[in-house]
Amino acid sequence: MGDSYHALYRKAYPMVPLIPDDRERRLVMTASKGQHGSRLDPWTQSYAQRTAGMSASEIRALFAVASRPEVVSLAGGMPCLSALPMETVAAAVAQMLATQGTTALQYGSGQGDPTLREQILEVMALEGISAHADDIVVTTGSQQALDLVTRIFIDPGDVVLAEAPSYVGALGVFAAYQAQVAHVFSDDDGLVPQALQERIVALKAAGKRIKFLYSVPNFHNPAGTTLSLQRRPQIVEICQRHGILLLEDNPYGLLGFDREPYDAMRTLSEEGVVYLGSFSKTFAPGLRVGWALAPHAVREKLVLASESAILCPSAYSQMTVSTYLATCDWMAQIKVYRELYRERRDAMLESLGAMLPQASWTHPDGGFYVWLTLPEGLNAKAMLPRAVTERVAYVPGTAFFADGTGQRNVRLSYCYPDPDRIREGVRRFAGVVHAEQELLETFGPYDATATGSGPSTGVQFPSPDLS
Ligand code: PMP
Repeated sequence: MGDSYHALYRKAYPMVPLIPDDRERRLVMTASKGQHGSRLDPWTQSYAQRTAGMSASEIRALFAVASRPEVVSLAGGMPCLSALPMETVAAAVAQMLATQGTTALQYGSGQGDPTLREQILEVMALEGISAHADDIVVTTGSQQALDLVTRIFIDPGDVVLAEAPSYVGALGVFAAYQAQVAHVFSDDDGLVPQALQERIVALKAAGKRIKFLYSVPNFHNPAGTTLSLQRRPQIVEICQRHGILLLEDNPYGLLGFDREPYDAMRTLSEEGVVYLGSFSKTFAPGLRVGWALAPHAVREKLVLASESAILCPSAYSQMTVSTYLATCDWMAQIKVYRELYRERRDAMLESLGAMLPQASWTHPDGGFYVWLTLPEGLNAKAMLPRAVTERVAYVPGTAFFADGTGQRNVRLSYCYPDPDRIREGVRRFAGVVHAEQELLETFGPYDATATGSGPSTGVQFPSPDLS
């Protein structure tokens, strides 16, 4: 039945761009396994083992099509920069360059600009954190902080605990350092403490070394959920009891729609938490400025690791952020972003409610993402070629798990398209789901093993603007 479904699907949609299927991939892999490399890549035998965990997502090719203007992309996690007062920012940066250009265009400190580190303290105070500027390391986006923390803690085979689902860019880092990711059950209130406790006990009993718990507590990417206030001390306590570091990744915390930010988990433990922040969502991702706040000894190692990787973060970018914080009303700008994203979230939830009653989804009260569960029997990755043909794009749920689950899940982003485009995108998406359901009713369930759309065993790497 599965085969006939696949064949009929191909007959019905011959123009649909193909996700390379497993057979094609196996051919390429076999071709590249020759003793002395192959025509495709003469260096096959030379790569470090850790590159085995790095493979481009099969959906990358599709997203080249998805970036065409006629496609409504509900896939990307790109902030809406048209809301920035660009002329004001440009004038402030021009002034900064004219007066401090020789510093801004020079190498800087490996730990990051001291002025900016003081300003970061003010940003973190909004989430109850009181710290010392000396314990902050400025990084090239919080993505580099994820890389540094993983680099200094993970040996191959060590376990990283992570929410189910988890941020795809973090899973990519963990895979690159050959960590084993153990997902922990999470619901609408975030990580479930009891599930965390049980997972730790089971892993320890199996002789595993657990190094840290990775969590995005606020307006989760991709789940759109927030860890409840009640659960925060429980999670911190469980980690402490088992000697597991907590990596608190918080790029969206100030982008809540309905309330002031919750206190960070870092407020509950100075020694047990590495906290990551970023200016990517509250200001601009192109500057690539993020930071880690770490216990003192960890901070020292992070600086050494960062210096060996990049010498120092960009002084120009840091001074641009610093000037922006000092001369523009950044709190008012965050408010502008919050209102804008709230309107887009409303547009998405209302359209989903009107057009897709047979699916279910999370109700984010901040951030960029809705996590949707398709009706039984549908496969989000298999459906993507048809969606792109119908001029709408999303990220299939399997990208957010290290173990191939999430086949019925979809991440929809509302941050970038305006509300009318969102409504149109959801209309197209709903049309695709309906058509898939009709196929399913006519031909029976999809056979994932017949194509490359089954459980993927590795972490997928979509392009950066999708993460
Ligand atoms: N963590 C999470 C949860 C994210 O969503 C992102 C960006 N999508 C990052 C970290 C990395 O952000 P940046 O490097 O731009 O600070």
